[in-house]
Amino acid sequence: MASVTLKGITKRFGKIMALSRVDLHVEDREFCVLLGPSGCGKSTLLNIIAGLIPQDEGRILLDGRSVDGLSPRDRDVAMVFQSYALYPHMTVAQNLGFGLRMRGVSKTDIRERVLETARLLGIEDLLDRKPGELSGGQRQRVAMGRALVRRPRLFLLDEPLSNLDARLRANVRLELKRLHRRIRGTILYVTHDQVEAMTLGDRVAVMRHGKVHQIGRPETIYSRPQDTFVATFIGSPEINLYQGSLVRKDGRLQFKGPGFFVDLEGYQLKVEEGEVEVGIRPEDIGIGKAGTTALKARAEMISDVGSEKYIHARIGQESLTIRCPKDTVFQPGEIIPLTIDPGRVHVFHKGRRI
Ligand code: ATP
Repeated sequence: MASVTLKGITKRFGKIMALSRVDLHVEDREFCVLLGPSGCGKSTLLNIIAGLIPQDEGRILLDGRSVDGLSPRDRDVAMVFQSYALYPHMTVAQNLGFGLRMRGVSKTDIRERVLETARLLGIEDLLDRKPGELSGGQRQRVAMGRALVRRPRLFLLDEPLSNLDARLRANVRLELKRLHRRIRGTILYVTHDQVEAMTLGDRVAVMRHGKVHQIGRPETIYSRPQDTFVATFIGSPEINLYQGSLVRKDGRLQFKGPGFFVDLEGYQLKVEEGEVEVGIRPEDIGIGKAGTTALKARAEMISDVGSEKYIHARIGQESLTIRCPKDTVFQPGEIIPLTIDPGRVHVFHKGRRI
């Protein structure tokens, strides 16, 4: 297995800047997820690492050695695509063994490695079937098996679960996490699904418009987003984000939003006045006792998702979502007294965390 280092990877398609000076280091045996909206350049980056398309600028190192001049085959990386790309006329065993056969591995060795991989993935019973006779989840496992059987230095997975229904997806996600522990391989995994990214990744790189906005452990990305894009892209329901300014009111540091104030006294900020954006996650808003807090919202709609409730409310001229326990009772129109811990508030200046 290998570490991966990307230095200043840039790629244009005509006028489209698909990737702009991307730097990334993935440790040996790390599970790193590239997360971002459609069109942000995730697949292009994976294809460049695999050697399927050339970069315009920048370098790719595997274990500290440049692979820029190497063909896809010589880079010794395995890619699993969203489409799985299985050969329909071959059996599962033949599909699994195909790459090894092309590399001149002996028949006995192929048989042994195919069987070993099939056992690892729990698909021994399927070896004689053709892809058309398999379910989506089984096909996905065969596609993974085809990558695993080669024992490559690096796995590149491009949205490998997106053809599965939601329930199967959640199960296969867990399997994949277990599998990573067992094979201890280096994995770069592309998805636009934040839940997938947060549950699978040792680290997550959040991308937009061909740039990496933030790389970090899932909990860091969630609790300390570096900019307003990362703050809004991660988290469901979405973070409440408001434009306003920092002011001193009654001697206390306050955020003045459109029609409301949030007390920020005690918050350590680099600046103490001027235009800012403030982000408050729905679960970081507490419901206080009537009369004890100056901050109030008016409930508009309640969404009950079973395990918890979301209150959609108005605060000043803005909307606000509050995440609360399932036994919380509020009616539309009711006034909700709010408490907000200043330590949980995210403050941004020109889109960047301060
Ligand atoms: P998705 O999640 O939808 O697959 P992505 O993040 O993987 O999106 P890419 O497929 O890497 O995004 O595309 C990045 C940008 O480059 C997009 O604007 C896309 O339209 C453009 N692009 C990708 N491949 C080509 C190509 N062969 N020719 C021209 N433009 C391309």
